[in-house]
Amino acid sequence: MNLILLGPPGAGKGTQAKRLYDRHKLVQLSTGDMLRAEVASGSELGKLAKQVMEAGQLVSDEIVIGIIAKRIEAPDCKSGFVLDGFPRTEKQAVALDEMLSEKGGRIDGVIELAVDEDALVERISGRFACAKCGAGYHDTFQRPKTDGVCDVCGGTEFTRRKDDNAETVKARLQAYREQTAPILPYYERKGLLQRVDGMADPDAVTREIEGALSRIRH
Ligand code: ADP
Ligand code: ADP
Ligand code: ZN
Repeated sequence: MNLILLGPPGAGKGTQAKRLYDRHKLVQLSTGDMLRAEVASGSELGKLAKQVMEAGQLVSDEIVIGIIAKRIEAPDCKSGFVLDGFPRTEKQAVALDEMLSEKGGRIDGVIELAVDEDALVERISGRFACAKCGAGYHDTFQRPKTDGVCDVCGGTEFTRRKDDNAETVKARLQAYREQTAPILPYYERKGLLQRVDGMADPDAVTREIEGALSRIRH
């Protein structure tokens, strides 16, 4: 099964994608993580992407489509994946359908995480992650069980994203409204879109997503 998690920055896509891996072994394909890895490696592509990401704008379709096209070829994607943060434009959505249909594959379902804009700024400004394993946390909503210690791996170092600041968030929300939200009708027309209340607590969101999955499988 191949899924897309759609929603604004901070909606909970990464949190829920990790749970989909734990429960169903669907591989998380996060273009944000892939781009941050390029930036960290200092590659040419990373240099191009860095400034755009720090300004809260979208990296060019060509770059992102290229990254995903290559990643989707890997053997671990064969048994199913969940796209987190891709597609973000109509052009990316069309390119995704083309690359999948060439291989006889398809998207089975698109889950929209609906969250009020007011909540997103708070979610993003409190976000941090384990530096060792990448597990995601929040200052208020998802603290580690023991302060300063990662629940998953016991790591004691944490990182915050450079673009998770109030200034950049505004630009990212605008990019979502103008470029990403318009692809919802694209999937609605295909009968693939299911809306989930992303304002609920993380476990309730997971339960709603499980309900959505059971409707896809029928
Ligand atoms: P996205 O990948 O959509 O940008 P994340 O999964 O990284 O979003 O979540 C953003 C922040 O909000 C993180 O700090 C995460 O711990 C927290 N978070 C995720 N889901 C919820 C939720 N349902 N309620 C409250 N906080 C949440
Ligand atoms: P969030 O879910 O919090 O918005 P991501 O980690 O998905 O964050 O993305 C971080 C940044 O990486 C985006 O603001 C954008 O600059 C870039 N990016 C990630 N995915 C895409 C994409 N599919 N198309 C264009 N830019 C992307
Ligand atoms: Zn960890």
